[in-house]
Amino acid sequence: MKTSRVISALAAMLVCVAAAAAPVQFGRKSRILSWGQSPEASRAAYYLQKYLSEASSLAFPVVDDVTLKPGDIIINEVDNLPEDAFRISAQGNNIFLEGRGKSLIYAVCDFLEQEMGMDYWGDGEYTIGHKTRVEVKNRTEVPAFRYRQTSHWCLGNGRLANSDAGKVLGADEFYRLWYRLEEPHELFVNNLWVHTCNKLLPASRYGKEHPEYYAWFDGARHPGSASQWCFTNPEVLEIVCERLDSLFKANPRQKMISISQNDGSDTYCRCPSCLAVMEEEGAASGPVLRFVNAVARRFPDKEISTLAYLFTVTPPAKTVPEKNVSIMLCDIDCRRQTSLPENPSGAEFMKCLEGWSRICDNIFLWDYGINFDNYLSPFPNLQTIKDNMVIFRDHGVKMHFSQINSSLGGDMAELRPYLVSKLMWNPSASLDSLETHFCESYYGAAAPYILRYIHTLEGAAVGTDVDLFIYDSPVSYKENILRPALMRRYNRMFDDAEAAVADDPVRLKRVRRTRLPLQYSALEIARTNPGRDAKAVSADLELFRSRILEFDVPTLNERNNSPLSYCDMYKERYLKDSKANLASGKPVTYILPPHKRYESLSRTALTDGLYGGTGYVENWVGWEGNDAEFVIDLGQVHFISKVGTDFLRQIGGWVLEPLGVDYYVSLDGEQYSLFGSVDNPENRDGTIGFKALEATGGASARYIKVHVRGQNVCPEWHYGVGNPCWFFIDEVWAE
Ligand SMILES: [Zn+2]
Repeated sequence: MKTSRVISALAAMLVCVAAAAAPVQFGRKSRILSWGQSPEASRAAYYLQKYLSEASSLAFPVVDDVTLKPGDIIINEVDNLPEDAFRISAQGNNIFLEGRGKSLIYAVCDFLEQEMGMDYWGDGEYTIGHKTRVEVKNRTEVPAFRYRQTSHWCLGNGRLANSDAGKVLGADEFYRLWYRLEEPHELFVNNLWVHTCNKLLPASRYGKEHPEYYAWFDGARHPGSASQWCFTNPEVLEIVCERLDSLFKANPRQKMISISQNDGSDTYCRCPSCLAVMEEEGAASGPVLRFVNAVARRFPDKEISTLAYLFTVTPPAKTVPEKNVSIMLCDIDCRRQTSLPENPSGAEFMKCLEGWSRICDNIFLWDYGINFDNYLSPFPNLQTIKDNMVIFRDHGVKMHFSQINSSLGGDMAELRPYLVSKLMWNPSASLDSLETHFCESYYGAAAPYILRYIHTLEGAAVGTDVDLFIYDSPVSYKENILRPALMRRYNRMFDDAEAAVADDPVRLKRVRRTRLPLQYSALEIARTNPGRDAKAVSADLELFRSRILEFDVPTLNERNNSPLSYCDMYKERYLKDSKANLASGKPVTYILPPHKRYESLSRTALTDGLYGGTGYVENWVGWEGNDAEFVIDLGQVHFISKVGTDFLRQIGGWVLEPLGVDYYVSLDGEQYSLFGSVDNPENRDGTIGFKALEATGGASARYIKVHVRGQNVCPEWHYGVGNPCWFFIDEVWAE
C-alpha cells in the first residue's frame, strides 16, 4: 500500500524530533486504521479493539481509511525494522503502531501494557484500568535475541488434567504473543529442531543392513533408536542430504533444520576414522561439525542447526562452522545457585561458550533453569537466569531457549515465565522492578510476603551455597535452603500472605497455588525423618491432596507422575507401620557391593525403615553395571514366609528395573538354600516408579541372602545404549 509507506516514512522522521512523551486524547470518534495487508495486521487490529474498547468504553471501529482524524490509532506495516522489532510513536493526536508480521501484534500488546496499564496473566486472566487519555512514550523496541522460547502452562506444556489424562488444556495463543514467545515448529522444517538423528536416518530402517552407519565403541557397532551416527561415514552424508533435499522441497516456507545427536552421553562413535578426526580437533564435536558443514555447503540458502551438548559441548580446535550453520549450545550440567562464572561447573561451560562464540556468531543457547524431577520444589534461580542471560547476550548469542519450570502448580509457575519473557527481550531490565510489578499486580495485598519469601529463599541459596541442580529433590535441601528454621519462616510468610487476601478469592487462590511447592517439600522431607508425627503428616498430606484437586495440578515432574497417585503412594509407602519387618534395623554385609558413591549410605539405608522417594539422590543405594549380593543377619532364627526388595525405576536417569531377584536363607550363615526366585519382565514405562519384587515360602532362618540380577547394560531402545545402567534398592523386608 503506497500511501501508508509515504505516511509511515513521514511519521518515522517526525519520531526523531518528537518529544519523549506525548499526550493523546481518545474520543467517541476515535478509530483504528488498519494499514497492513497481512493476517497478523488484522489480528493486531482485532486485539487492539478488543482490549482498548474495554479500557476506554469507546467503540474504536477498525477501518481501512488513509485520512487521519484526531484520536485515531494507526496500525502500519513497515519494512525498515529488524526481525521482531516494532515502533510506537505519537504524532499530534494520533498514535502509530508499526512493525511487520507478528511484531505488529507485539506493538499492540506493548501499547496496551505500557500506555493502557494492562497485564495479561494467561488463560484469559488479565487486568486493565480505565483510560481515555494516554501519555505515549515514543520508542523503537528491538529484542536482544532474535528468537525467544520458554515454557508456560498456558501453552499446554505439561498441562494434562488429572481427570482427563491426555487432553491438553489451555493452549493460550494470546499469551505467547503478549510475551513475544516463539515455538520451534515456526522455524524448523517439520519441527526437526533437536535430537533429530534417528528421525533422519531411522535405525529401524537402516540398522540391520548397515550397522556401519552407527556408532562403534566397546568392540561393536550399536545401531538403535538412541544410537549416534558414525559421522565420518560418507554414505550417511549422502542419505541425509537426499532426505533434507526432499524435506526442504516439501516445506519451502521454513529454511532451518537440525542435524543433531540423539539424547544421551558417551554413546558417540569411536571407530578409527572418527577417532582420527577427534584427535585432530581435540574434541568429540569434530566429526559432527565437519559432517554438518558438509551438509551446509550443499544447501547454501538454508540454515543447518546442530547440537553442542554433552559429548559435543566443547568446540573443535580447527574446524569453523559454515556461515549457515547454527550451534545449539546447551549448559545442561551446570549448577544454578549462582551465575555461570560463579560456580565451577558453570565456569567449565563458560570456556565452551567463549570457544564457540569466537568461531560462530549464530549461537542458539539452551539454558536449563528447571528441576526436571520435582517441579513442585523451590528452585531459587531467578537472579541466576537473569545474570546468565546478560552473559549470553554479551557473547553474541542470537537465539535463546530458557527452559524453565512452568507446569501449573510448580515453583513460581506464573512469575517465572513472566520474568524470563521480559528478560529475553531485554536482559538489562531490572529484575527487582519486574518482580515487584508482577507481585503487586498478581498477588495484591499479599505481594510483600511473597516478595519476602522469594528473596529469603534466594538469600539462603547463595548463603548456604546449595547445589541447585536439574535433578534435585527437596530432600537434598533439608539442611540448607529448606532447613527447619527457614521452613518455619516461609510458612509464616505464606500464612500472612493468605491472611492479607482472605477477602479476595481470586488472589487467595493464586497465593495458595504458589504455596504448593512448600507443602510438597515439607511432605518429602517428613518421609525421611524417623521421628515424624504420622498424624500431623497425614493431615498435611490430605490438605495437599485437596489443593492438588482444586488447582488441577497435572504433574509432579518431567516424567508425568500424577500428584494424586503420589498422595496414594505416600500413604501406602511412608505412613504404614513398619514394625512387622523382621529385617528392620538389621546389619547388612555386601558380597557384590554397591557403587562407591553409596558405600556409606549402604551401611544403614536398606533396613532403616525409610523408603526412598522418586529421586535417586537420597536414601537409595545404587549398583552400576553389575549384580548385587548381600546378606542380612536377623540376629536370631525366625520363621520366614515372605522376603521382598524395593527398586526404583527412572529410565531417564538410566535407572532400570532389574531382571530378577533370588532369595536364599540360612541358619548358620554358611549353608544357604534357595527360598524363592522372582523374575521381572522388562518395563519401559517412562514415569518414575517403584517395583517390589517379593518371594513367598516357608523356612526357618537367621540369615537372608539377596542376589539381584541387573540389566547391567542399557538396551538398544535406551539413550544409554551399550553403556552400563543402574538399579537402586531401598528397603528389604522379611516377614
Ligand atoms: Zn565412526
